Amino acid sequence: MSATEKNISGTVLRIQRMSTEDGPGIRSTIFFKGCPLSCVWCHNPESISPKVQVHWEKTRCIGCGSCIEACPKGALAMAQSGIIIDRLSCDSCAACVQACPSTAMDIYGEDSKPDDLAREVMKDEVYFRKSGGGVTLSGGEPTMQPLFAKELLSAFQQNGLHTALDTCGQCSWETLEALLPHTDMVMYDFKEIDPDKHKNLTGISNTKILENLIGLGRFMKERGLPDKLWIRTPLIPDCTATEQNIKGIGVFIKEHLGEIVGRWELCTFNNLCTHKYESLGIDWAFKKTGLISHEEAGSLASLAQGSGVDARIVHLSGPMRNADSTESRGEGPHKSVSNGDVSECRCEGVYA
Ligand code: SF4
Ligand code: SF4
Repeated sequence: MSATEKNISGTVLRIQRMSTEDGPGIRSTIFFKGCPLSCVWCHNPESISPKVQVHWEKTRCIGCGSCIEACPKGALAMAQSGIIIDRLSCDSCAACVQACPSTAMDIYGEDSKPDDLAREVMKDEVYFRKSGGGVTLSGGEPTMQPLFAKELLSAFQQNGLHTALDTCGQCSWETLEALLPHTDMVMYDFKEIDPDKHKNLTGISNTKILENLIGLGRFMKERGLPDKLWIRTPLIPDCTATEQNIKGIGVFIKEHLGEIVGRWELCTFNNLCTHKYESLGIDWAFKKTGLISHEEAGSLASLAQGSGVDARIVHLSGPMRNADSTESRGEGPHKSVSNGDVSECRCEGVYA
């Protein structure tokens, strides 16, 4: 490692240990801060900003006002609804976090060195080796911190661990290509086939994302790496969960990626991240959107299987409601989760 590389640090949201959703086996998933997209349904809104961010948890606050007194920027105020954070004035100094007696003020994100992170993750090495698992870089978007991501991936590689990159694909081809020699498999978000709709839903057209996906398929084909690419499509009600989108993505996979894709995962929506939006003071348009039904999701999965891809690669994951459930789509998933009407799965982090 060169002197410059040794000084590299990155901003990470958290490490999720014992994950079974982010690649094969038991894994640790490192969530990066910063994402070039801003998907309207994002399940990790605290990962979008590349900076560390202070946030406030209403349920823990005892209203003492210590945070307001401690803030050197005058960025906090008490309103009827609770603490208001002026994010333009806040410089994330964390004085309010130190002053808060009840952990109601906290910070999303932390600056880390690759070696320190690698040491922490390697504590679970025995689980990775026994289960055929490893480490996944996710986010946020790992390619937004390319040198940091590369150092991390190569550190794990040197320790003989399986490495996976979970990416939205919105980066230069050179950035992606530089990470691939250190990556055993790639999980690639393919959210929406229509470029205009993609722009409306995520803030950016899918032109570069699809260009990179084709390049990735070519890269893997040339090196004889079948099954090392997984595609993930979020099934978001009234957004991406449409016949046109699923058929279109299936045709694209068949035409451009052929036998390279090992898994095409359709991940259902849930609104369990609503509290994260509240903690950031954001009014989320999807907070009352409920679960997709088994029938609707199943019918989209059948469409995917009939779109020309190898039907065996199509997988459906995430919570769904039963058709005879009394829950309507607009009531949110919590009721169904508690009355056992859904098949549960961890969906946090699936959609970057
Ligand atoms: S992080 Fe610092 S600047 Fe921001 S609200 Fe807290 S005390 Fe004020
Ligand atoms: S210091 Fe903590 S508990 Fe007190 S008002 Fe601020 S956030 Fe609430």
